[in-house]
Amino acid sequence: MKIAILSRNSKLYSTRRLVEAAQARGHEVRVIDALRCYMNITSHNPQIHYRGEVLEGYDAVIPRIGASVTFYGTAVLRQFEMMSVYPLNESVAITRARDKLRSLQLLSRKGIGLPVTGFAHSPDDIDDLLDTVGGAPVVIKLLEGTQGIGVVLAETKQAAESVIQAFMGLKQQILVQEFIKEARGADIRAFVIGGKVVAAMKRQAKEGEFRSNLHRGGTATLCRITPEERATALRAAKVMGLNVCGVDLLRSNHGPVVMEVNSSPGLEGIEAASGKDIAGMIIDFIERNAKPNRTQTRGS
Ligand code: ADP
Ligand code: GLU
Repeated sequence: MKIAILSRNSKLYSTRRLVEAAQARGHEVRVIDALRCYMNITSHNPQIHYRGEVLEGYDAVIPRIGASVTFYGTAVLRQFEMMSVYPLNESVAITRARDKLRSLQLLSRKGIGLPVTGFAHSPDDIDDLLDTVGGAPVVIKLLEGTQGIGVVLAETKQAAESVIQAFMGLKQQILVQEFIKEARGADIRAFVIGGKVVAAMKRQAKEGEFRSNLHRGGTATLCRITPEERATALRAAKVMGLNVCGVDLLRSNHGPVVMEVNSSPGLEGIEAASGKDIAGMIIDFIERNAKPNRTQTRGS
């Protein structure tokens, strides 16, 4: 097969591992920077040009689109889809996953466990909003943050009000969420490929920190998940319409709750924690599923 990896940097661990795994299975693989693609949108012969050449003959495309280039990256992925190239994850599903609010709304409709979450626009509604999520302590999140940046724990009502006012004053959209204290700074990352949880790890925040992101100094260890956690992760992946994703769960006293579904989950932490060839499993999935015109709008 001829496989394109949309990634801005071929030296990144995940990109490197996917290239290795594809080559090890005899495929032709090329890393393409989406920002250097330009497109020709016509009915009969849609094309992607790249650094002066036309990209042709690809069977599958693996999107590794960074959060800061979601708009242009998904536009390029969509153009591959129009050319009937099989996407590992579809552009619609990635766009959906990148919006935390939209994701939570879709997951809630299917009855998936979630932290109680509020969303408001006007500072006049802050008081009521805090009441709806059960009062302080609360977690306040920038809608477009990643890697734990823009996620704040407000221990008291006063602190919550001033943080919310500050974000609103800066015209930032925020979510206000019940703080799952009983998770004690740990979350579970369930790695899903094609309707199976292939590995799971527990990420523990460093001392004095509630955010367990590896980028915030958290540590990852292999972990066993319960059947309920497994079922929750798989349902979340299905609702989002993602073939490959990282589902982040918190262990709350009302069962597993989904914090977010990552459409471009990093491979380094999960391969190190599990000792598994996750990149190889992703390529195997593509081998089983890539067919021309296999793009459809999945999820709900
Ligand atoms: P990001 O997308 O930036 O990683 P998250 O929503 O995943 O943001 O939050 C970052 C971290 O903060 C999570 O991994 C988790 O450890 C912690 N966290 C987030 N929301 C809550 C919550 N409602 N209760 C307890 N801890 C939380
Ligand atoms: N780089 C990934 C993304 O932008 C996030 C890394 C992770 O938490 O898996 O979606």
